[in-house]
Amino acid sequence: MTHPTRAIRIHQTGGPEQLQLDHITAGEPGPGEVRIRHHAIGLNFIDVYHRTGLYPLALPATLGGEGAGVIEAVGDGVTHLKVGDRAAYAGAGAGSYCDVRVLPAMTVCRLPDNIAFDTAAAMMLKGLTAQYLLLGCRPVEGLNSGDHVLFHAAAGGVGLIACQWARHLGLKLIATAGSDEKCALALEHGAVHAINYRTENFAQRVREITGGAGVKVVYDSVGKDTWEGSLDCLQPLGLMVSFGNASGPVPPFSPAILAAKGSIYVTRQTLFSHIRTRERCQAMADALFEVVSSGAVNIRIDQRYPLEQVQEAHRHLEARATTGSTVLLP
Ligand code: NDP
Repeated sequence: MTHPTRAIRIHQTGGPEQLQLDHITAGEPGPGEVRIRHHAIGLNFIDVYHRTGLYPLALPATLGGEGAGVIEAVGDGVTHLKVGDRAAYAGAGAGSYCDVRVLPAMTVCRLPDNIAFDTAAAMMLKGLTAQYLLLGCRPVEGLNSGDHVLFHAAAGGVGLIACQWARHLGLKLIATAGSDEKCALALEHGAVHAINYRTENFAQRVREITGGAGVKVVYDSVGKDTWEGSLDCLQPLGLMVSFGNASGPVPPFSPAILAAKGSIYVTRQTLFSHIRTRERCQAMADALFEVVSSGAVNIRIDQRYPLEQVQEAHRHLEARATTGSTVLLP
């Protein structure tokens, strides 16, 4: 049997105008798959990389990597979900910008009753990312309560979750953001200092804040524009975690520079390595549900759009006009 669904697809890469509302069908789940009816869909910057072709997809492609809803059908071999379950997921390839979808059950997790669908859709990809960054990417000398770290774009979706989770862990998170209002938001959510990197030299400010020492870890999703300054913020043996390219990809560099900056370490990370098995994904989701349920991390949804207004949602995200998370409502 087939199930009609609206889907926001691209037939070629390019600007937001390439996002097109198509009417397609979803089938029955095969072995290891489920069919989910979305109640809310998360918008992420990775959707922009898919749309522009920076991260290539086979075309035509339905975009979107995060969603929450109700399980409608379960394929053979799926034991952790049943029809009628409330569920949420991140990853499983692109394809969440739609009403109903068949996808591998591997990253789909049962949603606790106290977490609303829109909250879930706003937090799975971003929250699991904040979690693996803070807990799964440790510098060689360890990271202890009271240590300084630097987090760029801290008023964004991943950023505001990271600010709160870092506070929960006792880390002193220095935030950067692109306006004074965004800096204030980062401070409200647990950052101990915030630097407007459009008006201030953030590397210089980080040295001042840390009494010249620098930070143990830099979390950098901005890429091209912040790369060099970020390396200058690190202590010797510090860790540079590159995890995005909002301003463009980091240009090639010589490893010799890492010695010159104090034998620093550089890693380029993706969530999908951390949630690559059902067990890992569920354990990470459980920890995320725990910090959200306890109130240690509050998921802020600052933008909501009907699914069909996805072009406008992309324009705002790319224009740096959003804060916190954005959800699309089918
Ligand atoms: P955000 O809500 O953080 O939006 C991106 C932010 O990046 C903007 O709001 C803006 O904040 C900042 N930015 C800096 N320079 C630019 C630029 N030239 N154009 C656009 N934005 C810019 O998005 P998400 O929370 O969805 O994702 C945050 C980052 O994390 C993204 O780069 C994303 O790709 C990455 N990511 C990586 C993952 C991984 O595992 N590797 C997983 C999830 C996300 P400001 O105005 O404050 O500078």
